[in-house]
Amino acid sequence: METNTAKHIMLVKYGEVALRQGNRGFYEKQIMDDIRRRIKDLHSGNIKVIREQGRFLIEDVTGDLDSEAILPRVKNIFGAIAFCDGIKTTEREMKPLCETALAFFRARIRGKSFKVVTKRADKRFPLTSNEISAVIGEHLLAGLPGTQVDLHNPDTIFRVEIRNHVYFYVDSTPGEGGLPYGSAGKGVLLLSGGIDSPVAGYLAARRGVGLVPVYFHSPPYVSERVVDKVRDLLAALTAYTGELPLQIVPFTDVQLYLQEKVPAEKLTIFLKRAMLHIASAIAARENARCLITGDAIGQVASQTLHSLAAVHSAATLPILRPLTAMDKHQIIEIAHRIGTYPISIRPYDDCCTLFVARHPENKPNAAVIERMETRLMEEGLKDLLAKAVEGAVN
Ligand code: ATP
Ligand code: MG
Repeated sequence: METNTAKHIMLVKYGEVALRQGNRGFYEKQIMDDIRRRIKDLHSGNIKVIREQGRFLIEDVTGDLDSEAILPRVKNIFGAIAFCDGIKTTEREMKPLCETALAFFRARIRGKSFKVVTKRADKRFPLTSNEISAVIGEHLLAGLPGTQVDLHNPDTIFRVEIRNHVYFYVDSTPGEGGLPYGSAGKGVLLLSGGIDSPVAGYLAARRGVGLVPVYFHSPPYVSERVVDKVRDLLAALTAYTGELPLQIVPFTDVQLYLQEKVPAEKLTIFLKRAMLHIASAIAARENARCLITGDAIGQVASQTLHSLAAVHSAATLPILRPLTAMDKHQIIEIAHRIGTYPISIRPYDDCCTLFVARHPENKPNAAVIERMETRLMEEGLKDLLAKAVEGAVN
């Protein structure tokens, strides 16, 4: 332990959630439950997650917290904005607080200059934030020879937080931000083996959308290895979301049917519509409230505004396209950061690249497409889509 009265803990800051008026408690509980779930196997009931005036406190009731073991488990939780590795003390008197601060900060100063920043959430504490910073700063200055205070450009910032207890920390690890996973309801993620859709899933999940991942599979034209790839992509996303069971839609019959019935340059649009029909039905079954795709405006022929307009009516729920306005390099940057990129670039064909025409139409006429599809529905497409929905299994 740092001193008799102080011990190592971790403070978790949660940004946007703290601003919620009505349902703040709901969000807080989700984050706390998520933290507990992720560290459950690390201990035998001695690590507690406690709400502490606008922060969560992770504490080992038997002594110092092993924050190095905890951090990798919790750092991907959506809704948390920072993880601060620090100490907690039950002291309330300035003199012992100064002693504890000196013992803690002495080992953590970098460079020569520092600044003390205090946040006083507990207004019962007799001094103001600035007064506390000044008193502790003076004590540190005396106790750390060769250092100086620099309020504008310090090498190290010593942080003091006065809450139900008093906390000291120096560094914090940034969190993901966003809203607690699942807090917005569920969405069906159309997940191909490409670069884009896993990133789209990650971004939607970060805003609280629980993911129901669906992959359209066309064996034997598409190799089983693509299924492995999609599963591996999901495994990367589970670091953020927890378990993600994949639904694999048997898509071969729909694909062969459309390939025979529609002109090659229109095939992609019909395939996308078929996917949206099926995904909408799965969403209804799963009680999901939206669909999520990896489309970005103009990235390929099927993602022009004309093409998006021509697929629109196939969905019975809003389609979220988190990548709409992003450039490819921005998408790739996120894919790298979340660990999906190296999996996405494994060289296996996905179903759309395999069946895609050399010169797909990039300005399809929505009314024409819809009319053609209505006819095909009656001629057998409807049954094939229903069968695909039925056949979608984990
Ligand atoms: P991605 O990189 O995500 O594969 P893309 O740029 O290759 O996207 P398309 O192949 O046109 O673009 O696909 C657009 C979106 O349609 C994908 O982001 C994904 O959401 C969905 N999609 C395409 N193919 C499949 C599939 N086989 N299974 C599930 N969803 C798919
Ligand atoms: Mg693709």
